[in-house]
Amino acid sequence: MTSALAPSNSYSIPDFVERGTYRPEPFVCKDCGVAEVWTPLQQKWWYETAKGDVFTKAARCRACRTRERTRKSAARRVHLEGLARKKPSAT
Ligand SMILES: [Zn+2]
Repeated sequence: MTSALAPSNSYSIPDFVERGTYRPEPFVCKDCGVAEVWTPLQQKWWYETAKGDVFTKAARCRACRTRERTRKSAARRVHLEGLARKKPSAT
């Protein structure tokens, strides 16, 4: 399992690595304050597939994560459209 993780410069070992297994992690969403559980499956995906930093933990509930992702992609689209408009016209 540890071989799939993102490399870390830290010398300390995350709890889940020391334990050798993921377990449900209850957390409170930092945006809306809703209590949720970060499931072992989600942790496995985050650490081993997404190569998330081994010391990061879930901070937002599903609804807020979706909203945040939508907000970011909308901001990126606006940015790209802005760049496109700055290009001199060929005609
Ligand atoms: Zn939330």
